[in-house]
Amino acid sequence: MLLTISTTHQPATDLGFLLAKNPSKVQTFELPFGEAHVFYPEVSKERCTAALMLAIDPISLVRGGKDSRSEGTSAQYVNDRPYVASSFMSVAINKVFGSALAGRCRDKPELTDLPIALEVTISAVESHGGEVLLQKLFEPLGYDVEIQGHPLDEKFPEWGASKYFSIKLSKICTLKEILTHIYVLVPCLDNDKHYYVGEDEVLKLLRHGEGWLASHPESKYITHRYLKNRQSLTKIAMDRLSEGVSEPDVNEESNVGEEVAIEKTISLNEMRMTAVLAAVLKENTRRVLDVGCGEGNLLKLLLQENRFTEITGMDVSHRVLESASERLHLEKLPERQRQRINLIQGSLTYRDKRLEGYDAATCIEVIEHMDADRLPAFERVLFECAKPNIVVLTTPNSEYNSKFPTLAAGKFRHRDHRFEWTRKEFQSWANGVCERFSYKVEFDNIGDVDENLGAPTQMAIFKK
Ligand code: SAH
Repeated sequence: MLLTISTTHQPATDLGFLLAKNPSKVQTFELPFGEAHVFYPEVSKERCTAALMLAIDPISLVRGGKDSRSEGTSAQYVNDRPYVASSFMSVAINKVFGSALAGRCRDKPELTDLPIALEVTISAVESHGGEVLLQKLFEPLGYDVEIQGHPLDEKFPEWGASKYFSIKLSKICTLKEILTHIYVLVPCLDNDKHYYVGEDEVLKLLRHGEGWLASHPESKYITHRYLKNRQSLTKIAMDRLSEGVSEPDVNEESNVGEEVAIEKTISLNEMRMTAVLAAVLKENTRRVLDVGCGEGNLLKLLLQENRFTEITGMDVSHRVLESASERLHLEKLPERQRQRINLIQGSLTYRDKRLEGYDAATCIEVIEHMDADRLPAFERVLFECAKPNIVVLTTPNSEYNSKFPTLAAGKFRHRDHRFEWTRKEFQSWANGVCERFSYKVEFDNIGDVDENLGAPTQMAIFKK
């Protein structure tokens, strides 16, 4: 099984840096199912090609224990695995080109975000949906797709076509992008995914699908196939994808995403994050606490600003903190970056010394997840005990709900919301907070402002 990656970006030998593989060497990597060889059949300033050749050992698959194929016949030994790009290929890409797949390039970091002319060929993929399926998967992602079908046997044309195809994909994009697409889409073609598909596969899919899978016209098919037709996992993944952002519940897992799906048309979440970040940047802030941080949408932006020396994300849910840690790649951050960020588990309705001493606290779309009778406790925790110099807090403006076409009248944007406030209700609560804890408050809109209904999200900026 052979995959080649070529570029005509100049100098084309930059490909070696991007893949972190020296063009002048042949390298071999051991994998549980065989070996992967990397070599460059073509190296010049004008054009450079790297090849990843997988030598899969069908016998090691049989002996591989519970993950191995289990037909119990000669098919165990004689099968297409050595020749067809399958999920083995994704495992190999991850192992051999892991840094490129993650968008890192140690020696020339400036290359990672640079769109370059790339061409990838895969010698054989299996497609039950023929050429059409291959086009449907790759063309929406902007690839020029060349497909060559193979007959079952060249000597006997009357036997007809096989389900195997060679493909060539061309596009100007980053290497990370093309590798990511292959990483996700090739196993979808493969009926025979070799490793156990569990819930971490959902996270993997969401991570690698970030930025493209949700808007792919075949996202449902891709998700279903990647997760090897497991309905329950597909449902989880589709819910999360339709959010565009993960907005988890504390108590209820099945309805994650409703709110963001409803709001999605205007990409409100992005606007929210940007508005909150701008409000925090406007003040002299170095130490920032994001309460109810969820999966770390804001933390990610805060990390990109060098001015913040201490960033803490706090949430009541262990599960979302784990996802945050994964999404922010905390394990892999260089030590200096790692020192800047901290995730803690706790509840906003209990006093907590760890929340003290910050310049700013942010609380994005959190209060509406708390029972209204717990709000006085929350106020004391944040404004009396933690008492940062500024608090930036957002919550839905319920008046705007009538503008969301898929939201029934009188319903909340998310099943876990305990309330949603009008502008008047929010302002009266915020003014009360100021009286009780000696803060001043200003209000702002996030998203399109409707003359009569206001904006979809309302923001309060409290200052001491
Ligand atoms: N701020 C994030 C997540 C919003 S979802 C974003 O905008 O993307 C609401 C979050 O608040 C969830 O992650 C939930 O776990 C958290 N949350 C709800 N009640 C909480 C409480 N009492 N203490 C801490 N976090 C809480």
